[in-house]
Parts: sequence; structure tokens; C-alpha cells
Amino acid sequence: MNKKMLQFISLEQSTPEKRDKSLRKNDFNEIYKEYITEKAAEQSSRCSQCGVPFCQVHCPLSNNIPDWLKLSAEGRLKEAYELSQSTNNMPEVCGRICPQDRLCEGNCVIEQSGHGTVTIGSIEKYITDTAWKNNWVKPIKVQKELNASVGIIGAGPAGLACAEELRKFGYKVTVYDRYDRPGGLLIYGIPNFKLEKYVVERRTELLKKSGIKFVQNFEVGKNKTLDELRNLHNSILIATGVYKAREIEIPGVNLNNIFPAMDFLTASNKKGLGDKVKLFDNGTLDAKNKNVVVIGGGDTAMDCVRTAVRQKAKSVKCIYRRDRENMPGSAREVANAIEEGIEFVWLASPKQFIGNLEVKEVEINKIKLGLPDSSGRRSPEIEPNSEYKIKADMVIKSLGFDPEDIPNLFNAKELNVSRWGTIKVNLDTMQTNLEGVFAAGDIVRGASLVVWAIKDGRDVAVQIHKYLKENKNKSKAA
Ligand SMILES: Cc1cc2nc3c(=O)[nH]c(=O)nc-3n(C[C@H](O)[C@H](O)[C@H](O)COP(=O)(O)OP(=O)(O)OC[C@H]3O[C@@H](n4cnc5c(N)ncnc54)[C@H](O)[C@@H]3O)c2cc1C
Ligand code: SF4
Repeated sequence: MNKKMLQFISLEQSTPEKRDKSLRKNDFNEIYKEYITEKAAEQSSRCSQCGVPFCQVHCPLSNNIPDWLKLSAEGRLKEAYELSQSTNNMPEVCGRICPQDRLCEGNCVIEQSGHGTVTIGSIEKYITDTAWKNNWVKPIKVQKELNASVGIIGAGPAGLACAEELRKFGYKVTVYDRYDRPGGLLIYGIPNFKLEKYVVERRTELLKKSGIKFVQNFEVGKNKTLDELRNLHNSILIATGVYKAREIEIPGVNLNNIFPAMDFLTASNKKGLGDKVKLFDNGTLDAKNKNVVVIGGGDTAMDCVRTAVRQKAKSVKCIYRRDRENMPGSAREVANAIEEGIEFVWLASPKQFIGNLEVKEVEINKIKLGLPDSSGRRSPEIEPNSEYKIKADMVIKSLGFDPEDIPNLFNAKELNVSRWGTIKVNLDTMQTNLEGVFAAGDIVRGASLVVWAIKDGRDVAVQIHKYLKENKNKSKAA
């Protein structure tokens, strides 16, 4: 066994945090290039086949992890792939970006016994990347075309998983999306250093080859109303995600060079895809040589700070009103950001942005933590007379996302939504209050995870199939 391989094996056997630390010294993608069959087998063989598959229980897709680990340990990668893809439409995506420390790996019995988790996500990714390399991943061959069509609004993971499952049943499927590329947040939200864009593109190409129709640059509400789409299809899925950025209502918020997180991340992802992006190319959305201040403490904020570092910002600070223990995002992502040199300003809240036309400074209030609030986290309280200022050439607001006003946007005032604006569905059927209209993913759950969106997409496909079978007589010609 060569020296490099040994280094990778010891790295994989360490805890996720140590592994991340080592990963940071390398490039995310480079390290995985070294993930070879022997290493996957060696890691997989560490699974104790414990009989109580806590990993599987804590995977939202109930992936049959112990069995595909066993197959990998035996070098039977094709069978491992077949098994893994039978419960997951994008195993290579989940292997890369699931917060495994909170899901499968965090509940691995080996991890609990202090010996470092089996690296389930990396193996899942390796198995599927190998399948792609060996041409084992094939477009769907429909056995029997059905005379019914489904319109899916939103080409994110929920919409794509549903489209694939419905196509397997034989339905005609059309996916509408307002972006110019399919993938939703997989393509324009999550940065390339966590999820390479070719990985998303080869998936959507496969779906096109499977006969699924994609209509891009098509915004429901502008190009057609919901009712117009309902007239075109036998059933509709709304999988539009959540995109309304939460605002900071403080003085100076309208100064130049203060941006919502998605503007910054989308520009960066578009550049990574080779697009011309005017606001990036003229320097506006490029962090290079700037003092960057990111406000917020979730995973999107971590993606922003880590993107700014890669764009060679002069300094990157992350301002968060609670302390490290009370941050909402993945502890692993915070550890990654610290490792990369991001400075965290915990227990701090912006009071105002200062500048003439452009932001130059952020005035900060110090915060102390009070009693726990309804979320169980200690609530932040401003310390009187504690103001201080930090330099800022660029501010990125990353305070989370709410749903847009879908009933108004879709010209469908009768569509029921919750008081947060998420779409209300019957939890058994996943149907909204509108006949034949279903909803899934973040637009139902609120901002969540890719793996949950895939799970919802799979589940809703089963429900739509059931609905269409029961309502055959109402079928429209597609
Ligand atoms: C910056 C960022 C990083 C993230 N990182 C991770 C991560 O590392 N791991 C993880 O598990 N999760 C992560 N998430 C969360 C994850 O991306 C989402 O939970 C997931 O993408 C939700 O899937 P979805 O299909 O419901 O919606 P989305 O992926 O948001 O897709 C919705 C689609 O609907 C389209 N759409 C919206 N309105 C309309 C309309 N009116 N007409 C037509 N189309 C419309 C949008 O253009 C979009 O393509 C991250 C989120 C963000 C914002
Ligand atoms: S889908 Fe996510 S949670 Fe499930 S096994 Fe894969 S990495 Fe773990």
C-alpha cells in the first residue's frame, strides 16, 4: 500500500472533524480523486453490521447503508450502486453535501464507541461516481407510456426526484423553472467547492434523455398562471423552494455594496459555470481584495464566507448574534470556515451600516445571552453602550429565507398556505386544497435539506400516481 493511500485511510478513520481539518489542507475535490476501490472497501469493512442500523434510521431516505457497505467491502460495486440508487435519486449529491454528522454518520455505532464513524457519505459518493464512470447509470426506459401528464413547477431536488419517479411509471412529465438551468439550489445556491456543477448537470442531462421535458426561463405567475398550467396537465406539483431573503431593518441598509446572500452565491456559481456575469465582471459582486462582512450564522452564511475566501477577499468576518454553541448551522461547516481563516464575531449584532453612497463600516452592538426562547436557544440581548465599528467594503446579508407569496404570484388566491407562507398539504396525500395540485420540498417544509427534498419528491410521485390512477376518467389528453 503506498504512502499516500495510508495517509487517506488514517484520515478516513479519524473523526469527521479531524477529517475535515485534513480536507481543508487539500482541495475538497482533489482529496476525493484519491478515493480508490481499496480504500472504499477498507472503510466499508469497518462497518460492524451491528444489527441495529442507526445510520439507516437517521437517513431521511432510509438508505440500506449496511448492505451497500457490505457489497463495497466485497468489491461488488455495481451491486452496491444498484442498491444505493434504489432509494436515492442522487446518491452522489447526498454523499457530497448531506450534513452526515447530524444524520447517518453521527449515529454510526462505531462513532458512538469513539472509534470514528464509517465514512458513509464518502462511500456513497464513491460508489455512484464509479457507476457514472463505468456507464452503469442509464436513462429510464419506459415500459409503457401512459396517457397522462404531470407539470412540475421547480427543477430543484424535490421536483427532479418526483419527475424521475413519475417517468419510471410512464407519465409524460414537464418541468418548468424560472432559472436558465435546472437544479434549483443545487446549481445556483450550493457552491462548487461543495458540489461540483458537472455532477448536477449530468443528472439533469440523464433526465432529459429519459424523456422528461424541461422548460427553463419560465416563471409561473408571469409566463402562465397556475390555472393555465392546470389546464395543460392532469396533475401539478409545486416544488418552488423558499427564496424570500429575510431583511435587516437598520439604518444604512440601502447603501451600495450590501447584498443578499443568493445574489452573491448565484453570481459566483454562474461564473463557475463559465457565464458572463456583468455585476461580477465589473467587480461589484466579486469579493477580491475587499473587507467582507457576512451577517448570519447558518449554512448559507458559511457558504458565503468560504466563497469570499476563495475569491481572495482581503478579510472575511462573520457576524452572529449568539455564540458558537448556539449557531443554527452544521458544526462541521463552522469548523471548516474557521480552518480557512474566517474571523467569527460572535455575540454581535449590526446596529447600522455607515457610508456615503457605499458602505464603509458596520457599527456593531455587543450581545449577551438571556433565557432560552421558544426554540430552546438562549435569546440575544443588546448590551447598552457597547457599540464598536468594523471596516466593510462589501456586506452580505444571510439571515435565512422565507417562502414567497405563492398564492399572489401564481394568481391562485384560493391556494391555502400556513401563517409562514409555506404551502399547506394533506400530510397523507401531499395534496394541496386544490384538486390535483400537490406540493413538496422546501415550499412545504420551510428551508431544509437536499436529502429531505429528494425524499419528498419520491413520496409525492407515489401520491400523484395514486391520484391519477383513481381519477383516470378525468384524464386530459396531454
Ligand atoms: C446557499 C445554500 C446552501 C445550501 N447547502 C446545503 C447543503 O450543503 N446540504 C443540504 O442538504 N442542503 C443545503 N441547502 C438546502 C437545500 O439546497 C434545499 O433544502 C433544497 O435545494 C430544497 O429543494 P427544493 O427542490 O424544495 O427547492 P429548490 O432547490 O430551491 O428549487 C426550487 C426551484 O423552483 C424554481 N422556482 C421558484 N419559483 C418559481 C416559479 N414561480 N416558476 C418557476 N420556477 C420557480 C426555482 O428557480 C428553483 O429552481 C442549502 C441552501 C442554500 C440556500
Ligand atoms: S443520503 Fe445523506 S443521510 Fe442518507 S446515507 Fe447518504 S449521506 Fe447519509
